[in-house]
Amino acid sequence: MILEVRAVAPFYKNGFVVGCERTHEAVVIDPGDEADQLLAAVRDRGVDVTHILLTHAHIDHITGVAQVKDALDVPVCLHRDDLPLYEHAVEQGKMFGFAVRQPPPIDVYYDLSPIYFGDYEVRVHHTPGHCPGGVCLEIGKRGRGEGGRGSGKGERGSGEGGSSEGRHLFVGDTLFAGSIGRTDLPGGNYEVLMRSITDVLFHLGDTSIVHPGHGPDTTIGRERETNPFVLEYLSSA
Ligand SMILES: [Zn+2]
Ligand SMILES: [Zn+2]
Repeated sequence: MILEVRAVAPFYKNGFVVGCERTHEAVVIDPGDEADQLLAAVRDRGVDVTHILLTHAHIDHITGVAQVKDALDVPVCLHRDDLPLYEHAVEQGKMFGFAVRQPPPIDVYYDLSPIYFGDYEVRVHHTPGHCPGGVCLEIGKRGRGEGGRGSGKGERGSGEGGSSEGRHLFVGDTLFAGSIGRTDLPGGNYEVLMRSITDVLFHLGDTSIVHPGHGPDTTIGRERETNPFVLEYLSSA
């Protein structure tokens, strides 16, 4: 898998280019103020971007959508429950004292069907709590885990560790290395967030690699065992 990560001031929000090493098809995830750097990575790696995928519509994750859409002219995808946030991008910017360009209309609302690029597939899991339309974008090789998800065959039998090998989770601001997303912004809800983390993300397997919207990578296993916010929630449940 081709993976390029960029983050710049003031938000140091991670933007990603994820591509197929064989076909060079790729997706751009959460283009923000680092849009120039992401577009440079697209050129340098020679990838052909098919979608702009958004984990959610907080301002730091969408300030670069207009620029990337202008440059690449590919569909922009978002969960429908974050449309109000997305449509108020300019107002969100004002809250932080930034002049923000209104992003282009959403082309695709996530549903249950996967999105494909090259040999890879993106499965979308709704993980509200940090905001209403937050999602986890699960990226892995196409067709992997088939039968595991639907019928419960294979994947369960081989154990969670083995089955999640090579699985990458782009979780937005739901879960961080050693921390969790804030829930004090409009539409945030602590209980809902903790259920998204423990009921949705944790079922994607301990070896799944987590790429948060800010800060370093981690794994589901590490967060399950050491994340103080998770441990506190689980001990009080
Ligand atoms: Zn956020
Ligand atoms: Zn963020």
